[in-house]
Amino acid sequence: MVSEFDLIARYFTRPLRANSPTSLGIGDDCALLTPSPGMQLAISCDMLVEGRHFFPGADAARLGHKSLAVNLSDLGAMGAKPVAFTLALSLPQVQPDWLAAFSEGLFSLADEHACELIGGDTTKGPLNICITVFGEVPAALALRRDAAKAGDDIWVSGTLGDARLALAACNKELVLDSAEFTAASLRLDQPAPRVALGNALRGIAHAAIDVSDGLIGDLGHILKRSGVGAVLNVDALPVGTALSKQTQDLRRRFALAGGDDYELCFIAPAARRMDVEAAAQKSCTQVTRVGSITGQTGMKLVDAAGQPLELSVSSFDHFAAS
Ligand code: ADP
Ligand code: MG
Repeated sequence: MVSEFDLIARYFTRPLRANSPTSLGIGDDCALLTPSPGMQLAISCDMLVEGRHFFPGADAARLGHKSLAVNLSDLGAMGAKPVAFTLALSLPQVQPDWLAAFSEGLFSLADEHACELIGGDTTKGPLNICITVFGEVPAALALRRDAAKAGDDIWVSGTLGDARLALAACNKELVLDSAEFTAASLRLDQPAPRVALGNALRGIAHAAIDVSDGLIGDLGHILKRSGVGAVLNVDALPVGTALSKQTQDLRRRFALAGGDDYELCFIAPAARRMDVEAAAQKSCTQVTRVGSITGQTGMKLVDAAGQPLELSVSSFDHFAAS
């Protein structure tokens, strides 16, 4: 029988990295972090609950990846560099194979971003994974939601709607060929957090958010916090090959309100377009300009010809009536 402490030691404890900002990691009452001079700490927490955020029986390695990825995505959206994270884990039982795969998926993404596991909590209960990430951003360069200005451009990274497409295929709402399904499922199960792009946009973008609940809602948060409005060209939204083959209505809906995209939506001055393109190139991330910020509040959706679109879509809300 594996004890709680054996489990932590076996699956989650590793030596600290060389030159780690962590001066004390797992094993004491608290971890101790030494922030770099001139930096602010960026902190975010996201929870994944079985049956709510992922299907029961989901692949453990992919789950390890995704639980950290959704948190790193928030750091990216703030322009912060990942430093460390904690893991609060509730497990129905100790399954060595599951734990080994979960920690492998978790640590391979953590290593990619030089982000160290510095502590957590482990308890028996329904499967629930809660991670808190700590990152650093130079003081005053954080990409907040409240700094979009009229006349700014609206950009998005990568492609939107792929995760929703995978979900639709899983739910038998539509059929994808096997290569398309594999690609879309990867977007759903193993999103690549846009940390490099977020960091490259420091000092260029005015505001940013990661698209987790659907672009329309997430952009809405920026508009509300900044006291501005937007014109959004729905037909300019970047979509992958599989989604581009679907009907125009479905393509528009999934790109606008799909959820689980983990792309960045960011707002930058029109005069900085060349700098945005350079940041995209530096971070090897595709970016697309999809609209502009207006002084008049509200979000106006238009088609490729600039004609107003009447689309009743809404983004994801856990507590909305269904
Ligand atoms: P406490 O009694 O202070 O709650 P615990 O006994 O829960 O401490 O944990 C012992 C140590 O192991 C602490 O340093 C804690 O941060 C760490 N820890 C517990 N669970 C995890 C986990 N799932 N991942 C990483 N570290 C963990
Ligand atoms: Mg504890």
